[in-house]
Amino acid sequence: MVSTSLPSLSTNIAQIRLGIRALQPQLVEWRRILHQHPELGFKEHLTAQLITQKLTQWGISHQTGVAQTGIVATVTGSQMGNQPGRTLAIRADMDALPIQEENQVPYCSQHDGKMHACGHDGHTAIALGTAYYLSQHPESFTGTVKFIFQPAEEGPGGAKPMIEAGVLKNPQVDAIIGLHLWNNLPLGTVGVREGALMAAVELFHCTIQGKGGHGAMPHQTVDSIVVGAQVVTALQTIMSRNVNPLQAGVVTVGEFHAGRAHNVIADTAEMSGTVRYFDPGLDGFFKARVEQIIAGVCQSQGASYSLDYWSLYPPVLNDRAIAQLVRSVAETVVETPAGVVPDCQTMGGEDMSFFLQEVPGCYFFLGSANPDRGLAFPHHHPRFDFDETALGMGVEIFVRCVEKYCMG
Ligand SMILES: [Zn+2]
Ligand SMILES: [Zn+2]
Repeated sequence: MVSTSLPSLSTNIAQIRLGIRALQPQLVEWRRILHQHPELGFKEHLTAQLITQKLTQWGISHQTGVAQTGIVATVTGSQMGNQPGRTLAIRADMDALPIQEENQVPYCSQHDGKMHACGHDGHTAIALGTAYYLSQHPESFTGTVKFIFQPAEEGPGGAKPMIEAGVLKNPQVDAIIGLHLWNNLPLGTVGVREGALMAAVELFHCTIQGKGGHGAMPHQTVDSIVVGAQVVTALQTIMSRNVNPLQAGVVTVGEFHAGRAHNVIADTAEMSGTVRYFDPGLDGFFKARVEQIIAGVCQSQGASYSLDYWSLYPPVLNDRAIAQLVRSVAETVVETPAGVVPDCQTMGGEDMSFFLQEVPGCYFFLGSANPDRGLAFPHHHPRFDFDETALGMGVEIFVRCVEKYCMG
C-alpha cells in the first residue's frame, strides 16, 4: 500500500523537474569537459577518471576497470519492508571517434584527430546527472539502479565484454534502459518504439583473384574488374529478389579498389561492404547469400575469391513493456507539439543490442537538433554538436523511469 505521506504524483513531477533544472549547469560543465577530452574505444582513461572522481565525491559505490575502462556504479533506493525491490540498469557509452573536430567553440576537442562526434559525452553526462540526483533522493524510489559506463561502442564493442565481466549480475539486472542523443530528431522529441529500433550490423571484405594482362588482349586474362562489377550488381538482388519485400534491409558495397593503369587488366579487385537488417530471423542469411553470389559469379568467369564476413552487432530489439514505460514517461517530459515520435527506426547499429539480448529493456532516441542555433549536423560529422538542453531532459526521463519501474 502506498503511504499517504508520499507527495502526490503531480507535485512529484514538479519537484523532480525543479531538482533537475538546478543540475543543468553541471550537466553542461561535465559534458564540455568530456567533449574537450575525447578518447577512442578502450582508451577512455581520462573519461573513466572523471566519472570515478564524481562518483567517489558523491559517495556512490562503484567498480572501475570493468572490461578495461568500463565502470559500474550502484545507487540503492530506500527499501519498502523486506522487499529489496527491482534492479534497473542505465547504460551510457563514453567513447569518441577518430575525427578532427571543425567546430569553433570554447569547449572544442583538445585531442588532435579525436572528437566526440556522436554525443557519447552527453550520454555520460546524463548518466552522471541521474546517478547524482538519485543518490541525493533515495526516498524517491525503491530497489537498485545500476549505472553501466561502457567503453568502445563505436568499435570494437564494449557491451559484450562488460556482460562477460558480469555487469548484469550481483545484483541481477531485471531491465535495462539507455538513450542516444539524436540529431535526426529536433530538441523536444523522443523516438521510441517496441521491437526493432536499430539494425543488425554485418561487415564483409572480399578479394577477387583474376589474371592480369594487356588491356588490348583480354582473351589472355581474367578481368577482376569485370568480375567484381558483376558481383556488386548481383549483390543488389539479395534485397530486391531474396528478402521478403515487407522486410527492411541494406546491402552496401562501400569500397571497391582495382587496377592501376588504363591499359592493364587488373588481376585483383577488392571490395568491402556493410549489411543491415532488423529481423533477427535473418541472422546468417546474408552471410550465406553474399558468399553464394560471389562464388557463383567467380566460378562463371574463371576467377577465384577470398571472403571475410563478420557479424558485428545484432539488431536493437526493445521489450514491449519497457518501451511502453519509456514512452509514457517521455510523454510527460517532452510536452512539445512534436512530442513522442512513435515509429522511429534507423539502419544504424548499436551494441546496446547485446544487453537487450540478455535482459528486457528499451533503447530510445532523445531529439537534440536545433537548426536555429546551427546544431543540426549529423552524427559522425566534424561539425557535429547538439543542443545541451537535451541533457536535462535525458536526466528527467531516466529519473522518472527509475521511479516508475522501481515502484512497480
Ligand atoms: Zn556513432
Ligand atoms: Zn553513438
